[in-house]
Amino acid sequence: MADQYAVIGLGRFGLSIANKLFESGQEVLGIDVNEERVEDSHRYVTHAVIADSTDSEALKSIGIRNFDNVIVAIGNDIQASILSVLLLKELGVKKVIAKALNKLHGQVLKKVGADWVVFPERDMGIRVAHHLLSPNVLNFIEISKDYSVEEVKIPDRMVEKTLREIDLRAEYNISVIAIRHDNEINISPSPDKKISYGDVLVVIGENRDLERFANLQ
Ligand code: ATP
Repeated sequence: MADQYAVIGLGRFGLSIANKLFESGQEVLGIDVNEERVEDSHRYVTHAVIADSTDSEALKSIGIRNFDNVIVAIGNDIQASILSVLLLKELGVKKVIAKALNKLHGQVLKKVGADWVVFPERDMGIRVAHHLLSPNVLNFIEISKDYSVEEVKIPDRMVEKTLREIDLRAEYNISVIAIRHDNEINISPSPDKKISYGDVLVVIGENRDLERFANLQ
């Protein structure tokens, strides 16, 4: 059975999460205190209800504890966001994901029990700066403070060479885990695989080595 999701706060952030889950075939309940926001959300969620998530009785009557994942996408009203997370955890929701506006807000959300705190503005800002600094890096995931997986546009001078010839492991201490060409992906490519124009390498390694490779053109 699909997981059950509830999204509290149907602003731009909440609606984009709800919509993506809904499009992927998940059951999504949208919740907002604002009637207009609830009405406007009907195309993006399975059901939507008007409720105040700082009201414990309202949450109980929705049956919120039956949801596997509840996303608190309230930002500006910090007090409402914190109180909502506290109530959701007290009511027994297994996984509560909450949006934080700043570091202190995030720390408090963790303290009251949020299982995952996200900082959309901060994280998007980091991604934009990262892309400006390394335009050849199309995407990245930080695995730890020092290691990442990155999608890097292949430098022109490596086109038509094989993975064995460019030997990124020896030259840069990074490993190729896949090659992507448009939407086609080749996982664990053979060392004899020739690189074509427009290929994107999915590589893993230490950040400073990845940077050295990504800035080489
Ligand atoms: P976004 O930045 O995601 O577009 P926003 O700018 O509309 O959001 P936020 O303050 O982050 O403003 O609020 C997101 C949504 O959360 C709003 O639609 C608001 O009505 C709703 N909301 C605020 N408080 C509560 C509450 N206590 N219970 C339910 N929904 C709430």
